[in-house]
Amino acid sequence: MSLPQFRLLRPRGIEHAVESLAKYSANIRVLAGGTDLIPSMRQKLFEPEHVLDLRGIAELRGIRPQASGAVTIGALTALSAIEKSPYLRQHFSVVSEAAATVASPVLRNMGTLGGNICLDTRCLWYNQSLTWRKGCGFCIKKDGNLCHVAPGGTKCWAAFSGDTPPALLCLNAEIEIAGPSGTRRMPLQEFYTGDGENYRKLQPNELVTHAFLPAESADYRGVYRKLRVRGSIDYPLAGVAVVMKRSNGYVADARIAMTAVNPAPVLVHRAGEMLIGKTVDEALADAAGDLAARTAKPLTTSALTPEYRREMIRVFTKRAVLAAAGN
Ligand SMILES: Cc1cc2nc3c(=O)[nH]c(=O)nc-3n(C[C@H](O)[C@H](O)[C@H](O)COP(=O)(O)OP(=O)(O)OC[C@H]3O[C@@H](n4cnc5c(N)ncnc54)[C@H](O)[C@@H]3O)c2cc1C
Ligand code: SF4
Repeated sequence: MSLPQFRLLRPRGIEHAVESLAKYSANIRVLAGGTDLIPSMRQKLFEPEHVLDLRGIAELRGIRPQASGAVTIGALTALSAIEKSPYLRQHFSVVSEAAATVASPVLRNMGTLGGNICLDTRCLWYNQSLTWRKGCGFCIKKDGNLCHVAPGGTKCWAAFSGDTPPALLCLNAEIEIAGPSGTRRMPLQEFYTGDGENYRKLQPNELVTHAFLPAESADYRGVYRKLRVRGSIDYPLAGVAVVMKRSNGYVADARIAMTAVNPAPVLVHRAGEMLIGKTVDEALADAAGDLAARTAKPLTTSALTPEYRREMIRVFTKRAVLAAAGN
């Protein structure tokens, strides 16, 4: 599958990048590592006239701990750097653990945190070649007006399938977005819409520049568990992140988030809250798993059945809660 024709733009700074986005916003795509964008362009899911390559913007790279204990991570930071960072592994381990499960080592060297946060939603009926999609009929997410997964519906249910966002949600991460009127900061939780078609709140003339992990989220014990078909390289088909802080054997704070079973990564507030003030045992971990499974809404967007994926959310949540509690 060949790439469509496009003009490559290589800005050297954020300001220059934003100017280019504003100028060509009618049909431009941002390229970071390209590990998802390039295959999608080959499948003719995107046919931009311009591609904005961020890789020359040095200020978008790097993991910068602050004196306060917070940390700033540039959007262009490679997932392998996040996986291997001694600082993140010590203080924000869940995000390193989640990054380490993305795809394969080569893809983690190319793939970036910004690309993982902005990752397109996925569906069996969408991530296919143009010939395949033509043969089966287009759908709401691209070129059509019906949904093969939820016939009769008007919403796209393609699943958000990035591994690091649930870990970032557990850490109450914020992101910075640069656009024509300057930068704005928002909680990552507010970035996703829950609609598989227009899945993120990002204008065509904006880009994600940084992620921020607050000092208050440092030193939680974290666990990430993921279901995939091929253990060496695949996207998650269900994923659960758990972070926990304990005091005198009791849970002082806990947060649980899921990925790949809804059109957005989801923080399951009640599942985390139900652990607080208690000692973790099998029954409590089971109850948290049940709640998480009830929040998951997997549909037939992937090779595994929705029932199995929901069940694995239950199982992974239970296991991750027990592991985070050190049981
Ligand atoms: C075989 C294979 C297996 C994979 N397995 C996994 C997996 O297990 N888990 C997983 O999470 N992902 C997986 N991926 C997807 C991908 O490799 C990762 O999600 C990676 O983090 C994407 O980052 P990137 O920098 O390559 O993004 P790109 O491909 O460059 O971009 C992805 C999307 O984000 C947009 N974008 C990128 N950066 C920015 C920015 N700073 N601001 C605004 N928009 C931006 C792009 O325009 C594009 O829409 C897999 C990919 C392949 C090919
Ligand atoms: S969920 Fe429906 S509309 Fe969305 S990509 Fe799949 S088939 Fe298309």
